[in-house]
Amino acid sequence: MNSHDHIRLAETHSARNYLPLPVVLARGDGVWVEDVEGKRYLDMLASYSALNQGHRHPKILAAMQEQMGRLCLTSRAFHHDMFGPFCKTVTEACGMEQVLLMNTGAEAVETAIKLARRWGYTKKGVPRDRAEIIVCDGNFHGRTTTIVGFSPEKLYNDGFGPFTPGFKMIPYNDVLALERAVTPDTVAFLVEPIQGEAGIRVPAEGFLKAAREVCTRNNVLLMTDEIQTGLGRTGRLFCYEYDGIKPDVLIVGKALGGGCFPVSGALASKELMSVFTPGNHGSTFGGNPLACAVGKAAVEVIIEEKLPENSYKMGEYLRSEIAKMNSPHVAAIRGKGLFVGVDIRPESGPARGFCEKLMALGVLAKETHGTVIRFAPPLIITKSDLDWALERIAQVLK
Ligand SMILES: *Cc1c(COP(=O)(O)O)cnc(C)c1O
Repeated sequence: MNSHDHIRLAETHSARNYLPLPVVLARGDGVWVEDVEGKRYLDMLASYSALNQGHRHPKILAAMQEQMGRLCLTSRAFHHDMFGPFCKTVTEACGMEQVLLMNTGAEAVETAIKLARRWGYTKKGVPRDRAEIIVCDGNFHGRTTTIVGFSPEKLYNDGFGPFTPGFKMIPYNDVLALERAVTPDTVAFLVEPIQGEAGIRVPAEGFLKAAREVCTRNNVLLMTDEIQTGLGRTGRLFCYEYDGIKPDVLIVGKALGGGCFPVSGALASKELMSVFTPGNHGSTFGGNPLACAVGKAAVEVIIEEKLPENSYKMGEYLRSEIAKMNSPHVAAIRGKGLFVGVDIRPESGPARGFCEKLMALGVLAKETHGTVIRFAPPLIITKSDLDWALERIAQVLK
């Protein structure tokens, strides 16, 4: 079957909840993918940062294959021999005492929400069912009904109500608004260090540091969603490191699965995690043997191969080279590390058109929020592969 046949088959038998670029991939290796006709592309989306280690990283594949030969699933009704080792690796890498493992990012966010609420009732003394969590305008935290309920984006929540109460929205990057929104019932502030889906929105320097101070002063948990910004994407292991702070709850996913398997988690101190007791939260697949084997290798690759450092260097280079193009279509270039948003001027048309032209030239990137092209390749990318992409980006932006 050719691309056309595959797309028709998908459109016939699948819900239309996505509008993919018209490319049908059949292979992936490192930063490169190949479609069913054998055409090669450089993957500059990297599955929304779930492929920070690249496609089919040999160490991650080997760990997965070894594990598949032994044990894949136990449920949490029993212990297994990869659980402890992975929990140790991930908590040490993240500088947090404990982790609660889930599968998808949205589940890890839900876990953080549950943690904050239970902490509010059992430790902070918030009256039952009154806990409030502050979130930001422009947020993206996943697709469950609770999470889309506090999304500002009509596209994500229109027609899916009624929604879970207990969330309050403030403008992003506005510490005064945060200060004003806090009440005695506030249990947490949930925030992305850079808003990815909102168009790679980078807050002012020191925003998280100031938010940390407000949270500490008011006994409110700071919960950073680093599902997309974390694990090296922004040029640090975690984006909050730029502000020299630590969150109370750290939410990770995407690249934690090494581009192979869904693995996510919420991390916190032992004291905070103690609000969970046997039976009150869980997941059949959360922390399964295969996930733990893959997750452990995924974290080790990021650290051993110094991917945050490469992301920092290559990201600086990518942004400066795009700036040098002086493109008449570009209104702004934003980002940190290899998390780059190129804002297209409204008069130049939607970003989607630029992504389609890039695709024809062999560069896969995806628009976000209509006007922004997101460039977020695997963090293993070399300068010569980036130069290959830059030649094509220049052709499209000229
Ligand atoms: C992708 C993403 C999520 C949701 O992760 P899923 O695995 O798709 O459920 C949550 N928060 C942020 C910031 C994300 O980028």
